[in-house]
Amino acid sequence: MDLKQYVTIVENWPKEGIKFKDITTLMDNGNAYRYATDQIVEYAKEKGIDLIVGPEARGFIIGCPVAYALGVGFAPVRKPGKLPRETIKKEYGLEYGKDALTIHKDAIKPGQRVLITDDLLATGGTIEATIKLVEELGGIVAGCAFLIELTYLDGRDKLEGYEVLTLMQY
Ligand code: 5GP
Repeated sequence: MDLKQYVTIVENWPKEGIKFKDITTLMDNGNAYRYATDQIVEYAKEKGIDLIVGPEARGFIIGCPVAYALGVGFAPVRKPGKLPRETIKKEYGLEYGKDALTIHKDAIKPGQRVLITDDLLATGGTIEATIKLVEELGGIVAGCAFLIELTYLDGRDKLEGYEVLTLMQY
């Protein structure tokens, strides 16, 4: 299946000059959403995954159906102040300024094989921070899976040494 036909490119959003890849038109097509999910499920089976971890909010959309299909858990990574119990935090750089991501301290058991999911790999900052959170809790990052990779932003450079699956490249 050619998944790209279901992605809508929105010019100049959220800022002038950005060509935003809108995946909502893929998600609201049942066959396309299931096909994309199935590709990631197969990848996760090969990697022997114990747990899925995804950053808010679109990392949930990709990761949760994969967790359901495998019968493994899903641990959310969220912006500071959103998770109710004790968390650990990693800051990461944005185009302008900084942001941070958190995870519950007890979300991962040491030695668990983790698949990290998100909708899109751009500069890699989000996923790099997520990897650090997983590893600080003793998880093994066995793979990272995305629907889309923006190859011109070189996010893969930050993921050297990690297994990466992307279903579409621009
Ligand atoms: P990075 O940290 O790799 O630079 O940016 C990736 C994050 O930004 C992902 O969590 C993703 O949801 C979001 N993102 C950046 N650009 C786009 C885009 O064009 N489309 C979508 N759907 N998400 C984007």
